[in-house]
Amino acid sequence: MKNIFILLFLLIFAQTLSAQNYKQVQIYLNSSSDIEKLLNSGLEFDHLNFSRDNSIIVFLNDNEFGLLQTTGFRYEILIDDWYGYYSKIPKLTDEQKSAFINQSKTEMNVGGFGFGSMGGFYTLAEVVAELDSMKSLFPNLITSKVSIGNTIEGKPTYMVKISDNPGVDENEPEVLYTALHHAREPESMMQMIYFMYYLLENYNTDPAVQYLVNNRELYFIPVVNPDGYEYNRSTYPSGGGMWRKNRRNNGGSYGVDLNRNYGPYSYWNAPNGGSSTTPSSDTYRGTAPFSEPETNNIKNFLASRKIKNALNYHTYGNYLIYPYGALDHETPDSLTFREYASDMTFYNNYTYGTDLQTVNYSTRGNSDDYFYDGDTVLNSGKIFTMTPEVGTTGFWPSQSEIFPLAIENVFPNLYYAWIAGGYVEMINPNFSKQYFMPGDNIIMYPTFRNKGLSTAANVTIELTSLNTNATISVSNASFDSISARHTSTVLSPLSFTISSNAQAESQIQLLIKANTNGVTMSEDTLFLIVGKPEYIFADTTNNPNNLWTIIGTPASAPKWAITTATYNSPPNSYTDSPSGNYAASSTITMTLTNAINLTGYSNPRLSFYTKFDIENNWDYGQVEISTNNGATWIPLHGQYTNPGTGSFQPNGEPLYDGLR
Ligand SMILES: [Zn+2]
Repeated sequence: MKNIFILLFLLIFAQTLSAQNYKQVQIYLNSSSDIEKLLNSGLEFDHLNFSRDNSIIVFLNDNEFGLLQTTGFRYEILIDDWYGYYSKIPKLTDEQKSAFINQSKTEMNVGGFGFGSMGGFYTLAEVVAELDSMKSLFPNLITSKVSIGNTIEGKPTYMVKISDNPGVDENEPEVLYTALHHAREPESMMQMIYFMYYLLENYNTDPAVQYLVNNRELYFIPVVNPDGYEYNRSTYPSGGGMWRKNRRNNGGSYGVDLNRNYGPYSYWNAPNGGSSTTPSSDTYRGTAPFSEPETNNIKNFLASRKIKNALNYHTYGNYLIYPYGALDHETPDSLTFREYASDMTFYNNYTYGTDLQTVNYSTRGNSDDYFYDGDTVLNSGKIFTMTPEVGTTGFWPSQSEIFPLAIENVFPNLYYAWIAGGYVEMINPNFSKQYFMPGDNIIMYPTFRNKGLSTAANVTIELTSLNTNATISVSNASFDSISARHTSTVLSPLSFTISSNAQAESQIQLLIKANTNGVTMSEDTLFLIVGKPEYIFADTTNNPNNLWTIIGTPASAPKWAITTATYNSPPNSYTDSPSGNYAASSTITMTLTNAINLTGYSNPRLSFYTKFDIENNWDYGQVEISTNNGATWIPLHGQYTNPGTGSFQPNGEPLYDGLR
């Protein structure tokens, strides 16, 4: 009887330890440096959403919420009882689920991916079953699952490789994709399973997929933290479990944050903070770098391979984050990371940058810093690694978000597979003439860049005309090879003739493709206007005050002025923020004082050079035209505009934001 009593007591005790509930809380800040203040006060959180009125939205457990109340920050509770709230979120009907699956079959040719049993997400056992199912359906394209090492509770950590001849270690560029470092981020794994099916199911019909599978070794570790993920299932089998760390018994508390447990020591213990030394904290870094079997598993796996580049998937925030996380500056390869991030986020419009640039806090001991240059001897060089943070609504997005969030990462994943090897894009067509007159023969010496991390071999260039205004004379050029991260210009030119019947102001449309071994890597459509343009306005005064009326609200905000810090042609350019960042909540305009008379002209065009660093999906710049003396204004589409998000930005209108 006594024994049974003790057992009951222990069970109740264990229950109260795991019974932390969570709240979603909006915390109002005075400046972004307040985030560091909050973190330093012992309130450790991760994955915050900025609400642009200088507030952040975070999930806090009961202990953390208690701490928040002592900090003096103003806050508002958005969700008081997370588990109660999650259990009431509407679930998809079977018909609605079928509609997602059918749409995916039609639009992406992916039919193997579906919904799991844990709030729509696959459980650990279901992930393993999917890996086995892929192997049985596509035995020549994927390996059987292999454990890269056990967890602290003794569970295997599964890895598979997708490649042709999967059982053979071929000399092909290697890419690694991981997910679920953090146990409560199941969409990170869902998008991976989706991408794997995309590769396997499109292999026979999509030449680019076939090329990548044949010429890369693509490694996948869908669940880095199986103990934590399984713990969430056992405590909240219908989904919503908020356990983040592994299941290390710290003595009085559980868990180490695996994405704070990587070495080297100088990163793990970097002075800016970004992890906790308190074992009960959600960002507890552990007793030493690589103190945890799960991070060791990854470390040993990297050491056993020659991985070129990697994506460590997390949720959430719609970010694409590159190193350094532990240090307060970018890497020596910042231009490479920026180029990749810019290309990849073209597909999903995520905000990119380092931790400090995107979420305003440091993370030390994170995976990406280690992958990048934490041990270039053991890892056979730098591994170009980034962390996508998928989605915006939280750790457990609604079921209707599962497919869209997976699909929006297919093309970034493909891009990352490309750049492990050679990946060539045109950067300048280099026409022999400035204008395109009927009957002219135009010669092109286009310049191409191999953005990839390996040599691009057998590169052929192919020029075609998409309408009758141009006839191609020389359609092909080639490069034996272009070295990694190098630019090269064709030696023998391409050329085309403009039809003598081409109407002035009509369009020539050319398609230029870069192929490798007959498979298209990239393509560009060039739109040229027939005829010689007449310049009816140009500001060559080098002073915005001459021709423009400059207004700012509030009146104290910096206004349009010259800068000599950067320009396309000397001596200066015009900038809205001549003295640093633009001011918060300001609107500043530069309006042409005298209207331009376009009577008698057709097909008017406006061209200008621009660069910008504008808070993505919130702040914006627009170029507008008025045809009624300024009574109303029409925003213009441009090469670098994208549609406004409707948050603060005008919904759907073309505008400039992000980094370029
Ligand atoms: Zn995470």
